[in-house]
Amino acid sequence: MQVKQVFAHYERSGHLTGNFEYCPYCGAQLELAASERRLRPTCPSCGFVQYRNPAPTVSVLIVDGERVLLGRRGASPGKGTWSLPSGYIDYEEDFLTAAIREAKEETGLEVEIRSIINLVSSFVSPRFHFLGIYVAACVVGGKLVAGDDLEETEWFPLEGPLPEMGFQEDVGIIEMYARGFTGLPVDLAYATADGR
Ligand SMILES: [Zn+2]
Repeated sequence: MQVKQVFAHYERSGHLTGNFEYCPYCGAQLELAASERRLRPTCPSCGFVQYRNPAPTVSVLIVDGERVLLGRRGASPGKGTWSLPSGYIDYEEDFLTAAIREAKEETGLEVEIRSIINLVSSFVSPRFHFLGIYVAACVVGGKLVAGDDLEETEWFPLEGPLPEMGFQEDVGIIEMYARGFTGLPVDLAYATADGR
């Protein structure tokens, strides 16, 4: 099975966008200064250093028999294309709870997380660098209705054909699952909405 875990959607060299211009603590203008092997925006007044990290996201492969649920995206990145339901993890949330919440918000369905399929680094643009956690889930309740960032939801065969997908990351995960890799076990205290 061929596995791809790093996806770059742009030429990464030379980009330094998305950095703060002013110190969020004292308001002084930041300057690039050497810090732990690289130049980082640094406050000459109070010493604040802006470290940038990828944002963890969770994507949910909701499976029903031989079908997978996809949504047509109503917002960037990937507006108009299809993708797995996904979103950011809130600071106070664990990733399993976030996956259950995102599935509910975007599809109306209540799900239980069954496994962790894979992790992916996505360099989407100079502004967006995601560490995507992909989980598989099954439906336990709710009513299918597109919401939040999705304009439309529809079931597609796991084996394809798939509609126009916004992210090859999603395609690779769906293929892995369709070929029989169902993933790593999950912590049942968090993988179900009622913590069974
Ligand atoms: Zn400062």
